[in-house]
Amino acid sequence: MDLGIRGRRAIVCAASRGLGRGCAFALAQEGVLLTLSARGSEALETTAAEIRAATGVSVTTVVADMATAEGRSAVLAACPEPDILITNAGGPAPGDFRNWTRDTWLAALDANMLGPIELIKATIDPMIARGFGRIINITSGAVKHPIDVLGLSNGARAGLTGFVSGIARPVAKHNVTINNLLPGAHETDRVKVTMAGMASKRGITAEAMKAEREQAIPAGRFGDAMDFGAVCAFLCSQQAGYITAQNVLVDGGAYSGVF
Ligand code: NAD
Repeated sequence: MDLGIRGRRAIVCAASRGLGRGCAFALAQEGVLLTLSARGSEALETTAAEIRAATGVSVTTVVADMATAEGRSAVLAACPEPDILITNAGGPAPGDFRNWTRDTWLAALDANMLGPIELIKATIDPMIARGFGRIINITSGAVKHPIDVLGLSNGARAGLTGFVSGIARPVAKHNVTINNLLPGAHETDRVKVTMAGMASKRGITAEAMKAEREQAIPAGRFGDAMDFGAVCAFLCSQQAGYITAQNVLVDGGAYSGVF
């Protein structure tokens, strides 16, 4: 199916690895012109080169931290009026909420709530004026089923989710949609490192840890960043214009609630 977005311009944040990279690849396969950001240049340039080689689309790279105003300005300078915006940043570290200070919270809010909100604020009005816009926030399955040690993520992402629900409706009549994509367990670099740490704490191998976690996923496997990217690309399509203000889980059936 042609998604009808060839030649559209997209900003994909935190796109050198993992889920952001998967979204970037899937959009490029649909002919979308990309501006990609990440904090380090090496993996970012490698990803950009791979996408150019595989798809032939133009890819601009910006080394920038999405949690900072300077980083967001640098990305917006490279692509001031995107048709598609994919917000993403690394998730906050797990921990015990008793140890978190106001500064700990502000860092999490900057990365996973206020950063995305600022990017939406900077890009949405030109989308409305052009009569086309697709905004996707990469959040987490933890929005629907919070995980105790991920309190910073649960709190910051819940704030973004509530904000998006409020602003998505007034802009829908302009063919501007805003949805959140909620990953379950996807085997990205971050998850591999976390799993290796958990395995060594328990004195088991990383393979045994992976098998144990896979048993708890109805699909029987971890997700792949390209599975995730494919859903993102569809939500950015011309055809998805009637889907807005949704929280779409990509988790292999792990969330067991009906809604
Ligand atoms: P990852 O570590 O594999 O990749 C993260 C990418 O983001 C890297 O390219 C990194 O350079 C970049 N990055 C991180 N912080 C950034 C920032 N502030 N500014 C710019 N670039 C930044 O991570 P991932 O697994 O792809 O996760 C992406 C998001 O999805 C995270 O917020 C994570 O918490 C969330 N998430 C992931 C999973 C999963 O299973 N992978 C599950 C739930 C939620």
